[in-house]
Amino acid sequence: MAGTDVFTEIVDGEQVYKYYADGEWKKSASGKSVSIVNPTTRKPQYKVQACTQEEVNKVMEAAKAAQKLWARTPLWKRAEYLHKAAAILKEHKAPIAECLVKEIAKPAKDAVTEVVRSGDLVSYTAEEGVRILGEGKLLVSDSFPGNERSKYCLSSKVPLGVVLAIPPFNYPVNLAVSKIAPALIAGNSLVLKPPTQGAVAALHMIQCFHLAGFPKGLISCVTGKGSEIGDFLTMHPGVNCISFTGGDTGIAISKKAGMIPLQMELGGKDACIVLEDADLDLVASNIVKGGYSYSGQRCTAVKVVLVMESVADAVVEKVEAKMAKLSVGSPEDDCDITPVVSESSANFIEGLVMDAKEKGATFCQEYRREGNLIWPLLLDHVRPDMRIAWEEPFGPVLPVIRISSVEEGIHHCNASNFGLQGCVFTRDINKAIMISDVMETGTVQINSAPARGPDHFPFQGLKDSGIGSQGITNSINMMTKIKSTVINLPSPSYTMG
Ligand code: NAP
Repeated sequence: MAGTDVFTEIVDGEQVYKYYADGEWKKSASGKSVSIVNPTTRKPQYKVQACTQEEVNKVMEAAKAAQKLWARTPLWKRAEYLHKAAAILKEHKAPIAECLVKEIAKPAKDAVTEVVRSGDLVSYTAEEGVRILGEGKLLVSDSFPGNERSKYCLSSKVPLGVVLAIPPFNYPVNLAVSKIAPALIAGNSLVLKPPTQGAVAALHMIQCFHLAGFPKGLISCVTGKGSEIGDFLTMHPGVNCISFTGGDTGIAISKKAGMIPLQMELGGKDACIVLEDADLDLVASNIVKGGYSYSGQRCTAVKVVLVMESVADAVVEKVEAKMAKLSVGSPEDDCDITPVVSESSANFIEGLVMDAKEKGATFCQEYRREGNLIWPLLLDHVRPDMRIAWEEPFGPVLPVIRISSVEEGIHHCNASNFGLQGCVFTRDINKAIMISDVMETGTVQINSAPARGPDHFPFQGLKDSGIGSQGITNSINMMTKIKSTVINLPSPSYTMG
């Protein structure tokens, strides 16, 4: 159970969770806490500390000092710590999943999957880090015109320093460890600011790292509302790298952050382009899985269907039939559709639905909402003048735009501010590749819904969807910089020459 057994020390009676600094669980001197509302019951579930600026300063100082020693810890030993943390995390999947169910209404089975996947990600990162950080490069000078072989350049990857990780509510464990593990294996220290909804799951995950025995100060977790401590953290002079996943907040952070490397994974409006020759059953199952899993609250959810008019009726009919089988209810019952994360999110989704209604979209089901629970909805005959054609609902509501040519679909996809992923369904691989080449998105899936995993695949957004690339290898590389040492010989020397 959450907050018990090995997690007892992270909670202070009455479900108020502590923050983690200098290898210890602490109560904030602010005396204030932030309440986490259960999206299903809409009642307060947990509380976390509202950390102060002074506490953030102390965490940054400790992180800086701990990093110096950690960078001198052998790579194989850093990997060993990570493997240990991964095993502890998986061992304690049940209480962590319980938090995900209560804080973000994640369906019970998906909550367990998130924790297990996170353990696997940590182990894979440890293995990948040992390989890629164990290699450097030797360059010789005589390949560049005008040079003899008198200089040898040895280059290797070195840590950046203190990495600040800020994940979003929808995968508070997985998107935290996807930043923590690469940062640590590369020799950095790590400061985590978890999303408020999802903070308690993240604190349990941090306890698993604590139990693995990482040095004091190397990992810290400060809690509080992003709107209150976010700017102080992201503009802190002690931060050497920011890895952020979330919405438009990331655009604001990138304007305020100093001259440090940024990894930004932001919103998306992933398009699903359906051609006339597609396997329509495959299309329908991918639209339902891609559009409605975790109630559409996934960055890579299918967020607009662009279907050729000639097959649109058939696609809509097949999708509707599959949607009728989706269970709607509580995350504890492992329903397919569960309440969205907050009342304000539900209100925002409803605003998009009402705008589409006023402008004449066809409702394939009746619109239904109870509290934060919104029944899955497919909106047909959506036109570009409707907000839902462009905005990210982050809910179980999916627009269908009927197109008369592939070019029209590509034009809509490329006119979006976002460019995270997209997908195309066709039996013609040549057409699929040509469409993939012109779609302005970080990834295009052929004959499958967009997806972030497997976690070692490169994952990146273009335009307002992000800066840089994630995926295990890319994240490790991003959290390092190249250091070179050049050996200058008194006279040219040619091997075996
Ligand atoms: P969000 O509102 O942008 O919040 C993300 C994180 O930023 C939270 O931890 C939040 O903390 C924090 N934050 C808020 N204000 C801040 C500030 N001024 N400075 C620093 N941090 C601040 O996003 P969300 O609602 O949690 O997540 C949904 C969004 O994430 C969607 O747009 C979705 O597409 C995107 N997303 C993208 C990816 C991807 O990989 N591309 C993956 C998943 C989700 P608080 O919770 O305390 O406010």
